[in-house]
Amino acid sequence: LLLGVVVATSVLLRMVYLGRRGAWLILPGTMLLGVAVIHDVLLNNQLLSGQYWSPLGFLIFIVSMICNFLLNRVWSRQEIVRLSEELRLINRELEQRVAERTQALAEKANALLDANQQLQVLADVDGLTGLLNRRALLEQLQQLKQWQGSVAVLWIDLDHFKRINDGFGHAAGDAVLAAFGALLRRLGRDRDRLARLGGEEFAVLLLDCGAEGAETFARRLQQQLRELQVPDWPQIHNLSASTGIAVGRLGETDGEELLNAADQAMYEVKHSTRDGYKIAADYRR
Ligand code: GH3
Ligand code: MG
Ligand code: MG
Repeated sequence: LLLGVVVATSVLLRMVYLGRRGAWLILPGTMLLGVAVIHDVLLNNQLLSGQYWSPLGFLIFIVSMICNFLLNRVWSRQEIVRLSEELRLINRELEQRVAERTQALAEKANALLDANQQLQVLADVDGLTGLLNRRALLEQLQQLKQWQGSVAVLWIDLDHFKRINDGFGHAAGDAVLAAFGALLRRLGRDRDRLARLGGEEFAVLLLDCGAEGAETFARRLQQQLRELQVPDWPQIHNLSASTGIAVGRLGETDGEELLNAADQAMYEVKHSTRDGYKIAADYRR
């Protein structure tokens, strides 16, 4: 028993040294038990006289053990509550961070989407006139394959445009192209597609429009082009263009075929009178 008490005391001393909770509570109980046992050993050998201390020593030891057990339970509970609260705070912080990140990512995704749309616009639009470019027009012709109504395609080539460049300079030529683009926009309806194919060549796609409507458009264009004022270039006037027209249905005739037919018709005008329009023979409905 004495040996057990010595071993337990040394273990407890080590636990106190290491800062283990509750060790300081059992230690006095164990030491008192040890003192009581030594006392009783001496008493048994008649080296001392009096009462046995062991029962009281055991009682104190057991009470210290019970107190340690109960206190440990209370401490564990408190520790659980503290850790739960800590976890809750960490969780909240984490959720907040995730929300912030999600928000930042959403903003970046939106910015990317905007940039993409701007890029798409830049890729589809002719920089000088703001009209569609050739690629975008061909794409439109593909997309409009399901269009039920008839469609008129006009290929417009400005007459003697080179003379403007040669006579007034490239900037004047550019101003004419921009003014012509604006004129097309004024004449076209919202659903029509207007494009600059390149150089001084333009194409107009009139939706739900037959040969008669296309001729009306070409006549008005011819007349307004003649009266067109080019900003900053009052010397430039009396402009004209040669226009080829092809009418058809995109479900029946390929869009590019209509465009080529309009191009051919435009060349016929160019090689006869210029300043006029012509409907391609096989493409009148
Ligand atoms: P035609 O009546 O036979 O059509 O004669 P044209 O002078 O209009 O045609 P041509 O094809 O001989 O000349 C077109 C000119 O358009 C040549 C080229 O330098 C000019 N050009 C092409 N793109 C641009 C441009 O973006 N800006 C300017 N200013 N000129 C351009
Ligand atoms: Mg040309
Ligand atoms: Mg020309």
